[in-house]
Amino acid sequence: MIDFRSDTVTKPTEGMLAAMFAAKVGDDVFGEDETVNTLEAKTAAMFGMEAGLFCPSGTMTNQIAIKSFTQPLDEIITDQTAHVYRYEGGGIMFNSAASVRLLNGDRGRITAEMIEEELNPVGNVHHPHNSLVVLENTVNRGGGSFYTLDQIEPIYHLCKLKGLKLHLDGARIFNALAASGDHAKDYGRFFDGISVCLSKGLGAPVGSVLLGSKETITYARRVRKVLGGGMRQAGFLAAAGIYALDHHIERLKEDHVHAQQIADVLIDLPFVKQILPVDTNIIIFELEDHKNADHLVEELKHEGILCGTFGKQMIRFVTHLDVTEEMVHKAIDILKKMA
Ligand SMILES: *Cc1c(COP(=O)(O)O)cnc(C)c1O
Repeated sequence: MIDFRSDTVTKPTEGMLAAMFAAKVGDDVFGEDETVNTLEAKTAAMFGMEAGLFCPSGTMTNQIAIKSFTQPLDEIITDQTAHVYRYEGGGIMFNSAASVRLLNGDRGRITAEMIEEELNPVGNVHHPHNSLVVLENTVNRGGGSFYTLDQIEPIYHLCKLKGLKLHLDGARIFNALAASGDHAKDYGRFFDGISVCLSKGLGAPVGSVLLGSKETITYARRVRKVLGGGMRQAGFLAAAGIYALDHHIERLKEDHVHAQQIADVLIDLPFVKQILPVDTNIIIFELEDHKNADHLVEELKHEGILCGTFGKQMIRFVTHLDVTEEMVHKAIDILKKMA
């Protein structure tokens, strides 16, 4: 089976497993797990931020960030495709008692102008108080579209001017960096919070790191505990994250090449209506009206390809560490036969 369902399906490599077995661990709720401490400090340093917090999932890092940057009755501004809104189980409303203003960006990418237009008047009791803007990079539902830092900078300036916090859902930030050529180190000064997933393209089995100021992370650590995310000898998992940061960033470009190769074949298939531009490792395409998406997923499964539907008439393929060049060639042969 060639598994294009998600970049979360990867299994630890032998090198990663060896690193996990060799990890020095302690009780991280006591602050005594040196491998977790190393991962948090290392990730923070990479992004030019003060501190980090290792969490079980990207949902938790995002939700903790939102809780840390808002008060109940506040309003968050983000794109209508945002993972924090669509795929975190309504957690914003549940955890933070905040509302959300959704913008209609370009494949999930919003601009300072769009945000400014939607800001509520300050001091008018009718309106919720805007306190936070959330960006996603890359944008999952945008088909892996990405922001460059040049595009983020005006949003940062607007947030500063208006007293808004700025959080980045960077589940696939390293894919964005691989595609844009920007440097992680330059990200820190634009954002109050950054969530980095280790379990997506980087290939770790579990975990995300929330980055922020020392003050933010001290508070975030309390929220993590309340949510039940305080893990004990978590160094075994953190070791996988450290290994991933050291060994699996450079290779992300291969995933992008593979995605483009597959897209080039898909576009010629008679039942494919259109395909979103492929900027990173995600391919989203729309089927002609006569083709049923669930049926196609079944047909492909029968041929040895796993993928998922992504809304009506839409299919998503994601390339990742466990999809080898050989598998891509095989998948291309299978797809070409469907023409
Ligand atoms: C996967 C993902 C997350 C975090 O998901 P978890 O499964 O909770 O780790 C957050 N944002 C985006 C855009 C994602 O794709």
